[in-house]
Amino acid sequence: MHELKSIHKMGFRLLKMIHREDSSIIPLHLLELCLSLAQIYIGLFLTAGLIDALLAGDYSTAVRQAGYLLGANLLLGLSIRLLQRRFRSLGTRMWLVFYVWLREKVFAMDYESMEKPEAAEKILFSERTSDMYGGLGSLLNYYFNILRAILNIALSVSLVVHLCLTRPSGGSGLVGSLAAPVPSLALFTALLLGMCACSFRVFTRFAAKQLEIFERHTGVEERIGYMLNNVFGNERVGKIIRVYGMEEMILENSARCQEKSRAYFAERHDVETAANNANNLVSSVFALGAYLLAALKVVTGAVTVGAFTRYVGALNQFGSACFILIAGHGELRKICTTMTDFLAFLDMENPRAPGSIPVEKRDDGEYEFAFENVSFHYPGSDTLVLRDVNFKLRIKGKLAVVGRNGAGKTTFIKLLCRLYEPTQGRITLNGTDIRKYDEEEYRRIFGVVFQDFKLFAFPVWENVAAGYERQDVRIWEALEQADAADMVRNMENGLDTWLYKNVEDGVEVSGGEAQKLALARALYKDIPVVILDEPTAALDPKAEAEVYERFGQMVEGRTSIYISHRMSSCRFCDEIIVFEEGEIVEQGSHEALLAAGGCYAEMWNAQAKYYA
Ligand code: ADP
Repeated sequence: MHELKSIHKMGFRLLKMIHREDSSIIPLHLLELCLSLAQIYIGLFLTAGLIDALLAGDYSTAVRQAGYLLGANLLLGLSIRLLQRRFRSLGTRMWLVFYVWLREKVFAMDYESMEKPEAAEKILFSERTSDMYGGLGSLLNYYFNILRAILNIALSVSLVVHLCLTRPSGGSGLVGSLAAPVPSLALFTALLLGMCACSFRVFTRFAAKQLEIFERHTGVEERIGYMLNNVFGNERVGKIIRVYGMEEMILENSARCQEKSRAYFAERHDVETAANNANNLVSSVFALGAYLLAALKVVTGAVTVGAFTRYVGALNQFGSACFILIAGHGELRKICTTMTDFLAFLDMENPRAPGSIPVEKRDDGEYEFAFENVSFHYPGSDTLVLRDVNFKLRIKGKLAVVGRNGAGKTTFIKLLCRLYEPTQGRITLNGTDIRKYDEEEYRRIFGVVFQDFKLFAFPVWENVAAGYERQDVRIWEALEQADAADMVRNMENGLDTWLYKNVEDGVEVSGGEAQKLALARALYKDIPVVILDEPTAALDPKAEAEVYERFGQMVEGRTSIYISHRMSSCRFCDEIIVFEEGEIVEQGSHEALLAAGGCYAEMWNAQAKYYA
């Protein structure tokens, strides 16, 4: 019972969310439900009238009844078809809406929380299970099927109760007494209660079995989903598969998966068949008893033959509605269970306050950042990646951040951009803790090209403007600065060319070309601080040299931070900080650090032979 309650709590929450998204969906489903019930019951009444009129030889009434029957069926049938057609497009919309909700939540979460494995797991699981079990569209359908079944049961039972209450005009002995209202009502109640008790037993027994199978096999369908989406449907891994000759291994892996899935579906099918058989048996016994009761009423003259067909029709409705109620509930339970992770993800809270102070808009670009005793470790790890970092960022200066791999350079930048918060200490902007600033406004100060920059399968201009208004002149300027203008000019549709082959007519770009576009994206924003994290890693030496040459011009009038393994880039910077194991071990100009003969000098000399 407790489980039932929690399932419907989830179900109703999702229904409310659907309603908030589109307030026409639920009323339209309700309308369809009313129309379909009206079609059934109007049909039963009109058919009964038609039979009675035919038996009584009243042909004009019979023709009229037949006309009504036809008209009602046509009108209601057509309206229902139209609504159902609309539901199909709403189903697709619901499928998309689910992804939009998921993404909206992802965007609303801070980066740090999103990196937690449990968040990633919940997203992945939500997406897969929604695709597999029909998600919101199916949830809506099952709820309405259940509601339809409940109303159908109520209507058919009230019709049969009405039958019980009819008084016999003839019949004697046992037949006559049983056909009287009270005994026939008692008989029907006994039949109904008996059937409910048996059906409930069948339902709980098979629902538990179904759930057990479902839980025992979780992972099977996910694995198939992974194979389909990430292995078979991903041309990028196709390269690796061919180079390593993994085809056979993957096919075997997939065959194993399919075998497990076959076993799952076979087990599920067996349980469903057994549940159907048990339900059929129960409802057949009930129907037999109820038909006998209706026949008793006809024999004793309590109702006409036409009315008999109406009651029998109602009893048939009752049987199928019970079946739908049980089966629909099982399906609904499955969908709600699979939505648990999705709802839990929506309920995840950002541990950090987003801040509210507006960032002062300074035309002079005078933004001064300071790290004050900043230490940091990543969530889920105890190892300090930054240790007691104290540093003031010189305004409009060019800063180079150097150090070995894993020294903490990128982490330093991530903290500056407020993707993470310091574990200890604070970072300030013009003397105020950056946590106090409105997060979105604060981030607008930076244009960053991360080492693992990403471009999107969108048109070039959207990749460069990155959420900002399209201004072609400025886009070309940024492309020019990043040395990507010629490349884009040579593309068939210029700024409107789609990137990557994910879309028809999309163009593939090389790693170096992509990096230039990412550079243009960072330069397009009218931002005071440009950060380039290994911006030349994917460029060939010539392009790299050109980037260095243009670097000064690119970041003119802005504060710039440059992370690089290539020491030659430091020559272009006013100040250099050297990280080692999360600490700033050296700080100063190129000449000063070289003269000091420390860590920096050692790294410089190690590479000097390449650019002497
Ligand atoms: P660098 O940029 O100097 O190469 P990073 O700042 O990227 O170094 O990494 C510093 C350390 O933090 C490394 O040991 C790295 O493994 C660890 N690290 C980086 N990102 C994460 C993360 N998201 N979660 C846990 N550890 C991380």
